[in-house]
Amino acid sequence: MSDDPVRCPYCIQDDNFRPMKPQPKGQWFVCEMCGHMVMHDNPKFQCRCRKCEGFSRPLRDGVA
Ligand SMILES: [Zn+2]
Ligand SMILES: [Zn+2]
Repeated sequence: MSDDPVRCPYCIQDDNFRPMKPQPKGQWFVCEMCGHMVMHDNPKFQCRCRKCEGFSRPLRDGVA
């Protein structure tokens, strides 16, 4: 279970969240479905895919 893949929180595949594709450079992952990105070694990284934009804009909560 320690090698659980990083999964996109927005896309479903095979009754589970879709695994994101690891990128060759650094600790980051991209969902090929929606373009969502996760950067493991940079917690402050903010994804700018449509889903994240759509969520963060109306809320504007938790953003220091
Ligand atoms: Zn996705
Ligand atoms: Zn995103």
